[in-house]
Amino acid sequence: MGIPLLQTAKIGAYVLKQQIMRREKYPLVLMLEPLFRCNLACAGCGKIDYPAEILNQRLSVAEILEAVDECGAPVVTIAGGEPLLHKELPEAVEKIIQRGKFVYLCTNALLMEKKIDDYKPSPYFTWTVHLDGDKVHHDKSVCQDGVYEKAVSAIKLAKAKGFRVNINCTLFDGADPEAIAKFFDEVTALGLDGITVSPGYAYERAPDQQHFLNRTKTKTLFREIFKRGRGGKNWQFSQSTLFLDFLAGNQAYECTPWAMPCRNYFGWQRPCYLLGEGYAKTFTELMETTDWDSYGVGNYEKCSNCMVHSGFEGTAAKAALKNPLKLALLQMRGIETEKPMVADIPLDKARPAKFVFSAHVQQAMAKLKHEKPANQQKEIA
Ligand code: SF4
Repeated sequence: MGIPLLQTAKIGAYVLKQQIMRREKYPLVLMLEPLFRCNLACAGCGKIDYPAEILNQRLSVAEILEAVDECGAPVVTIAGGEPLLHKELPEAVEKIIQRGKFVYLCTNALLMEKKIDDYKPSPYFTWTVHLDGDKVHHDKSVCQDGVYEKAVSAIKLAKAKGFRVNINCTLFDGADPEAIAKFFDEVTALGLDGITVSPGYAYERAPDQQHFLNRTKTKTLFREIFKRGRGGKNWQFSQSTLFLDFLAGNQAYECTPWAMPCRNYFGWQRPCYLLGEGYAKTFTELMETTDWDSYGVGNYEKCSNCMVHSGFEGTAAKAALKNPLKLALLQMRGIETEKPMVADIPLDKARPAKFVFSAHVQQAMAKLKHEKPANQQKEIA
């Protein structure tokens, strides 16, 4: 199954504990970005558009572990940038696993075969390989030929070595449902442990602004894909079925941005993994001082088309907890693809977008200029 029983049980126990403690807002997955530097420059990526001085920065192992401990989430997803460029990452991963956390290491797989023996197979460790579709589609998506083949070769090697391996698939406007369904069949045949799928977020700094999906197009696309796989039952997703049901327009969810908080070089990102509208120094500060009500679909223009898993998986998880029977029936029957979609949250009262990107970048650049040369030595991995 997409999410192993051990993980489901441990997360269940964690959620129960939060409820007993009457915590309304709590994290499920820490989204860790230990660096922004990448060895690819994908058209739909809004994560790497920084000056070289910032791209050269890394979170140290100590900073990574501090974030893991402070946040307390049972799952840690390591993204970036390309995490395998971080030389100290194997040590960080080992220490995170020693803390009983489940680690999902995201990679474009270009360095995976070279670095694979720096990591050990474990039920607590999963490679998450970026693959947006078949060879033609993926290589176009990452703007480089040959990446798909390298990724598939690395997936096969990792499976042969006994690792858990997922893929992370981001879909954009123009994706062909037939081709995506066929792609899901093909990667499933590789023996994958799970597929994570999501529409791309319309990053304001992404080079390609033409191919982001709006809400209606997202729901239609996912219905067309699920239709071709018995309501999604043909494939092993490492996601809540209720989230997939939301993608297909059968649920109208508000997001739960604090469920997947993001820590990177700038600090704890407000309000979520997708939007950087300021940074808090500590996780507690993030949780206590973010004006959560001013974000989300219907509240903020930049959220209008967001249906990304990092924002809505937490909501789906909560809904599953409230109504486990609904989830069980959905898993049995598959996702509805024919009935009318549910009414979505109105967008007309959303406050206008604010553009704040340059403020924290300028602040960080000024800080870096004044730091000691010794600090600059940790830059290059
Ligand atoms: S809808 Fe929620 S998760 Fe999506 S960008 Fe807005 S705050 Fe973030």
